[in-house]
Amino acid sequence: MTLNQYIRDVQDFPKEGVMFKDITPLLNNPKAVRECMALLLNNLRDRKIDKVVGVESRGFFFATLLAYELNAGFVPVRKPKKLPFATVSASYELEYGTDTLEVHTDAIKPGDRILIHDDVLATGGTAAAVCELVEKLGGEIVQCNFLMELSFLNGREKLGNREVYAPLVY
Ligand code: IMP
Repeated sequence: MTLNQYIRDVQDFPKEGVMFKDITPLLNNPKAVRECMALLLNNLRDRKIDKVVGVESRGFFFATLLAYELNAGFVPVRKPKKLPFATVSASYELEYGTDTLEVHTDAIKPGDRILIHDDVLATGGTAAAVCELVEKLGGEIVQCNFLMELSFLNGREKLGNREVYAPLVY
């Protein structure tokens, strides 16, 4: 099975000129999900991950499965005003304007070994903001983990020398 066949290209979503990679066909297929999980877990089992940080909202699907498999906690990173308790926030630049992400202040303890997961690494702005949140709380980032990387957008550059892994690269 090639996993690519479960990623649907949707032209002009969410706006004109964008080719959106839709992972819902993959989520719909348990065999494909298992294969993805095997790839995403690659060499992570012996890396003592304490928490998996998942990014709203498509990052939540595999981040929770990864947390379960790694016997780690799950930490949601969400858009502003969604989390009920005290938060720290980080903002990042969009094409037009800025966006902000938040995490609960008590979700990560200093020294926690953190796996960050999101579905797609595009320009890297989102992932860089998540790294900032984790590091504000004293977490140690073990790997930034994605289902797919849109390599032509050079998102890795925004993540400096952090470890980046994505089984599907476009
Ligand atoms: P970035 O900040 O430009 O790297 O964009 C990454 C964020 O946008 C992730 O949270 C993704 O969920 C979302 N994203 C960007 N492009 C796509 C896509 O083609 N398919 C699904 N999500 C995308």
